[in-house]
Amino acid sequence: MQQLLNEILDEVRPLIGQGKVASYIPALSCVSADQLGIAVYSNDGEMYYAGDGLTPFSIQSISKVFSLVQAIQHSGEDIWQRLGHEPSGQPFNSLVQLEFERGVPRNPFINAGALVICDINQSRFAAPSLSMRDFARRLSGNSHVVSDEVVARSEYQHRARNAAMAYLMQSFGNFHNDVEAVLHSYFHHCAIRMSCADLALAFSFLANNGVSPHSGERVLTPRQAKQVNAIMATSGLYDEAGNFAYRVGLPGKSGVGGGIVAVVPGRFTVCVWSPELNEAGNSLAGMAALEKLSQRIGWSIF
Ligand code: GLN
Repeated sequence: MQQLLNEILDEVRPLIGQGKVASYIPALSCVSADQLGIAVYSNDGEMYYAGDGLTPFSIQSISKVFSLVQAIQHSGEDIWQRLGHEPSGQPFNSLVQLEFERGVPRNPFINAGALVICDINQSRFAAPSLSMRDFARRLSGNSHVVSDEVVARSEYQHRARNAAMAYLMQSFGNFHNDVEAVLHSYFHHCAIRMSCADLALAFSFLANNGVSPHSGERVLTPRQAKQVNAIMATSGLYDEAGNFAYRVGLPGKSGVGGGIVAVVPGRFTVCVWSPELNEAGNSLAGMAALEKLSQRIGWSIF
């Protein structure tokens, strides 16, 4: 495995230069583009990593999985009264369906859906940003996980689009808390910094029927874990979810920080990171690395 990870990074490194680091959040554009990391964690507790696999980066939309899991933990199936679990076929920050569908987002992984999930969590936690940070710390077993205040502030200053979505949902009665307070929590979740190794550990419960193999904590029931994997497989990469299923064939979740986490149910979790993104806002070299890995090991769930 170790040799394979080194080889794959060498093979995809030449792709660096063909994508673009996210710049619509100014603080993210300062990240140097030549970083490339990978980590694989097996259900029996083996961790393998290569390149910059231990360097923390902005997890961005990968945090939407943690928010969804928190919401499922306290509210179960009730959350589906507020949003759907259908793929959107639209970019992550699209507003168009929201107007037609009366403020009910298609799924929890597009921004509108993640904002509704944050609104649900805002009603349950006294300090949502701290609850999320502590959840990420527990899932990864890393007590040093923090949210980057500079990135969170930068996102808040450039919040127009996310704010527009939240206010539109409020106008349809599908937003219950103060919009600015929920945006504040949402940006702090997105600004959490974790490494590939942290994320591989943190997602391992999804490869292990809902139980974290490293801590023994039951995070979700087996059925709930299967459901979260299903939503990742159908919506985790937005309008590129079909392409990701075709090329990689695993439940996955990406973020505009350049990370992608994928789950091999029953066996492994893997995280790749390369900051340059393709047109759909997913890591360009990261996708290629996962495709090679899944092909060489025969990992596809299909
Ligand atoms: N914080 C980013 C946003 O709200 C997350 C987007 C992403 O990672 N796809 O736009």
